[in-house]
Amino acid sequence: ATMPPLLSAIANAGRHGVLVKSAVVMERLGGVTRVALDKTGTLTEGAPRVAEVRVLGAVCGEDGVLAAAAAAEYPSEHPVARAVVALAEERGLRIDPAEDFSSEPGWGVRAVVGGRDVRVGRPGGGGAGVASGGERVADAVDEVEGAGRTAVVVWVDGVPVGVLGVADRVRAGAGEAVEALGRLTGSVPVLLTGDNARAAERLAGEVGITEVRAGLLPQDKVAAVREWEAAGEKVLVVGDGVNDAPALAAAHSGIAMGRAGSDLALETADAVAVRDELATVPAVVALSRRARRLVV
Ligand code: ADP
Ligand code: MG
Repeated sequence: ATMPPLLSAIANAGRHGVLVKSAVVMERLGGVTRVALDKTGTLTEGAPRVAEVRVLGAVCGEDGVLAAAAAAEYPSEHPVARAVVALAEERGLRIDPAEDFSSEPGWGVRAVVGGRDVRVGRPGGGGAGVASGGERVADAVDEVEGAGRTAVVVWVDGVPVGVLGVADRVRAGAGEAVEALGRLTGSVPVLLTGDNARAAERLAGEVGITEVRAGLLPQDKVAAVREWEAAGEKVLVVGDGVNDAPALAAAHSGIAMGRAGSDLALETADAVAVRDELATVPAVVALSRRARRLVV
């Protein structure tokens, strides 16, 4: 017997480097009318580096800021966390053990390091009991974000002691994938990100995306997906992080990026781009459309 079209499409997708979890998923992908792409780890390589360390006040020096941040970030799998730890290690700093670690998807981490409360995360985050730091923090954040970088604030015992500027590179083939997805679905993909608007807009411009929603928490990504689906769209979410898992689950279809992808994203998504190339996403949508024409 010849293989049913959806099964041979799954085999084909596998050869392209996408693990499609079922025939139902293989069929649904071709019906997608709108694609929502995550930024960090999806449109970017997800291997950012800390490009600058700004010290605020006199509590810690540059290495002190970095060492505290690295200790709190050590248990985290977030790409920003990996970047902070990498620079601390590169500089040979001692990374003290963290206690009571917790991570807040969408904003950052918190831990006790050497008896001090250390928080690392997005400006305006930090949770209860942290000082805003006023203009000094706002100015540092503004300059970092103005350079198209992600600003990450480090708080020690509630006081902002530094701002890190984190930079990531756009993935090879991102622009082409955006273009191909636009052609296949009839609408330009949108960018959904937890990162700041300026970093998001800059990246969007580089890859040909015109609609950007920035500063989103995981539940805001879900709300965006629901809004479009309520308007009759069939949304494909492409993401990699723990923060993307709820949106991957809520959408008509979800694809997780394989390499940087968190376990939760890989489990939640309908398909996994195991080869970790964005070009495979439009390829699998095209395969689904071809298989649907053969099924009837
Ligand atoms: P994206 O949607 O672009 O993948 P996330 O939702 O994972 O981004 O994170 C949103 C923002 O929250 C990041 O840009 C960063 O500023 C901050 N953030 C998240 N996790 C961490 C962390 N472990 N350390 C520092 N900052 C973090
Ligand atoms: Mg991400």
